[in-house]
Amino acid sequence: MRRLAVHIIIVQILLIGNQLFGWGYDEHRRISRAAVQAVSGEFGDFLQNNVDVLSYNSANPDFWRKVDPDELPRHFLDADLYDEYPFDRIPRDYDELNAKYGADVVVQNGIAPWVVEDYYFKTIDLFKNKKWNESIHAMSAMSHYIADLHMPLHTCANYNGQLTGNEGIHFRWEKSLVEGYVNEIIPNGSAEYIADPVEMSFTIVKESFAVYPELLKADTKARAPLTEAQADSLNTYEKLTFEDEYLSVLYDETSEILHERLNSAAQRIASFWYSCWIKAGSPEIQ
Ligand SMILES: [Zn+2]
Repeated sequence: MRRLAVHIIIVQILLIGNQLFGWGYDEHRRISRAAVQAVSGEFGDFLQNNVDVLSYNSANPDFWRKVDPDELPRHFLDADLYDEYPFDRIPRDYDELNAKYGADVVVQNGIAPWVVEDYYFKTIDLFKNKKWNESIHAMSAMSHYIADLHMPLHTCANYNGQLTGNEGIHFRWEKSLVEGYVNEIIPNGSAEYIADPVEMSFTIVKESFAVYPELLKADTKARAPLTEAQADSLNTYEKLTFEDEYLSVLYDETSEILHERLNSAAQRIASFWYSCWIKAGSPEIQ
């Protein structure tokens, strides 16, 4: 009886609730490291000189979640809880959004685009004031939230496939699949100027949302040969004996999306960093 109780507790700990992370720590670091490659010139050199700090700290917001209860909603936007795709009726202005839906709903649905906006303006200010060290940390944090919005399941209410019998897809796709199958993240273009951080965040949300059903479809196919118990265990952080077969189907079905989302995240992060520097008046970096 006691053993059973202990077993139940362990299973509960391993089962995934709403504490999903977005790309794993290593994945965030790899994306931010790749982003540096997309910027050239004086500002690119500055990023390159600080690449280790930039990339290492890009995982930090996921650690903040463990101590700060307000941190969780900063990592996603469940856009379909507000409006149908392409989400034209969601106010881009944060005050307007709050006035329309109330602060509780706004926080519940996720606020990532406006966190990106905050960091965008904060970074511009730091550049203007030549606070280079602080700017590295702000850029690093900003990169995390931009990367999270590129994860398709960070933009929809069905974020873990819990509404469609696909529980566990979130972690398996963003962590196990990347670890097993992605050797390289290559920005899909060089840095481009972004004038409106919230509108660009919504562009990313729209791209991510448009492909998320493909992830669910792939999961349905990949879990079809599994027993019920095996399928249930996908919704844990455990390494599973049958996982390789499951992941191989998942990869066959979604490899294009996976690489595109990661490569795109790197290019977007570079673009946000670069735009802050331009917007600050391209200050000379000492
Ligand atoms: Zn995150």
